Amino acid sequence: MKELHHFLNGAPVKGTSGRFGDVFNPATGEVQAKVPFASRAEIRRAVENALEAFPKWAAVNPQRRARVMFNFKSLVEAHMDELAALLSAEHGKVLADSRGDVLRGIEVIEFACGIPHLQKGEYTEGAGPGIDIYSMRQPLGVVAGITPFNFPAMIPMWMFGVAIACGNCFINKPSEKDPSVPLRLSELFLEAGGPPGVLQVVNGDKEAVDAILDDTDIKAVSFVGSSAIAEYVYTRGTAHGKRVQAMGGAKNHAIVMPDADLDQVVNELMGAGYGSGGERCMAIPVAVPVTDKIADALIARLKPRVEALKIGLPNDPDAAYGPLVTAAHRRKVMDYIDLGVQEGADLVVDGRGFKMQGYENGFYLGGSLFDRVTPEMTTCKEEIFGPVLQIVRAHDFEEAITLPSKHQYGNGVAIFTRDGDAAREFAARVQVGMVGINVPIPVPLAYHSFGGWKRSAFGDVNQHGPEGVRFYTKIKTVTARWPKGGVRENPDFVIQTMK
Ligand code: NAD
Repeated sequence: MKELHHFLNGAPVKGTSGRFGDVFNPATGEVQAKVPFASRAEIRRAVENALEAFPKWAAVNPQRRARVMFNFKSLVEAHMDELAALLSAEHGKVLADSRGDVLRGIEVIEFACGIPHLQKGEYTEGAGPGIDIYSMRQPLGVVAGITPFNFPAMIPMWMFGVAIACGNCFINKPSEKDPSVPLRLSELFLEAGGPPGVLQVVNGDKEAVDAILDDTDIKAVSFVGSSAIAEYVYTRGTAHGKRVQAMGGAKNHAIVMPDADLDQVVNELMGAGYGSGGERCMAIPVAVPVTDKIADALIARLKPRVEALKIGLPNDPDAAYGPLVTAAHRRKVMDYIDLGVQEGADLVVDGRGFKMQGYENGFYLGGSLFDRVTPEMTTCKEEIFGPVLQIVRAHDFEEAITLPSKHQYGNGVAIFTRDGDAAREFAARVQVGMVGINVPIPVPLAYHSFGGWKRSAFGDVNQHGPEGVRFYTKIKTVTARWPKGGVRENPDFVIQTMK
């Protein structure tokens, strides 16, 4: 059995805790590797390596740091096929989708290549007699990222791309379900000229996470995962004086207005609802057609498309999606489908019986479609995170805007309409962090910032873009006087203004 490792101070290091987790091949259901679970001592070792590397890395001028990021970007591009194959083999998403995962990460590295410009401070000449004021953005020191299974390339790069470009040293604790891509990225970063200790990977479970949260030498923690853990990470991390940004779960709605182009909407809902088996925080698991007439027309178009979904091996170029990540996750999604039926929703397409021929032990699940779901149902309130699209019918625009606005989550939302006025009002009023207008998955590009509202994000600062640079730096402001004519005569006993 293959045994994975940590990546500490520029080298692969075997786990020493004696505790391991299973990494599955979701397509076959077999365990393909053991991943070591770090002890507190192993986390501390990573922190000490990072503390040692930090002063030298922070002193590297920004254009040289940017050059390392450029090299890293080129190397990740050159290894795209290898990374995508590694990703699909542990996650189960289809190869094209794995490439997309890597590509969206590369975009953050491209953004981070602009760090000489992004990290510039501000300067006011002549703020008072002989006085200038300037501010600088300095790195925090050692920072950490705790990342989820569903984007094992993009989400670590969201975090470490910006953190490292700003001059910090970064420790990644990836998901124990698919740790191989983050490990490979840390090797490529070293090959790109990143010094040992600047990017490290420590594998583990709750024990490793708690050790990160409690270690006061780690100044900031970025987290992406489910909301319960996000809230826990935020509470425990901030209690230890850390800066924390913790992104959580989601239940994104797509509003379908009566004037929308239904053929376009159906295409978008198929991709956003079932792509990656629904295991995306920006997936669309809820469609809200406005009026019963539109709902009936939408269901009539969706039903045959969902029934015809091609589910396949991750390397099948024609497959819409592959297996789910683990048997436990598949069970959880199936339980939600059972519950939806018990709650009285109308199961229009039932994906529970799907079997992948020759891969009966793989974690496959067919696509399901529910109609007549109501906001009071548990299956509507909670995140399912699987290939299940729920239709919640709304009578009018007001009801449609209320549904995502009142929902506990507020990550993404979309509206499909030809009416600019309705779209504009929707974008202004809806209580959700990222809004798509005729765009089903409105994930901002790397030079804007990513983040949801309500229980989809804990903390005040978003991921990447200008917000990411602010998160990973602290501002220092210097007020300098170079008076002409020697010593000033009297001390200042009262507060001074710069007249
Ligand atoms: P998860 O919460 O199970 O795990 C995320 C991380 O937390 C992993 O590194 C895991 O090892 C760690 N963890 C798990 N249990 C823990 C515990 N009890 N104590 C401390 N740490 C623990 O999430 P997941 O299943 O890997 O990812 C799917 C979730 O992530 C979904 O809810 C999805 O919506 C969310 N997600 C959110 C965003 C976003 O930006 N809002 C993006 C991607 C995924």
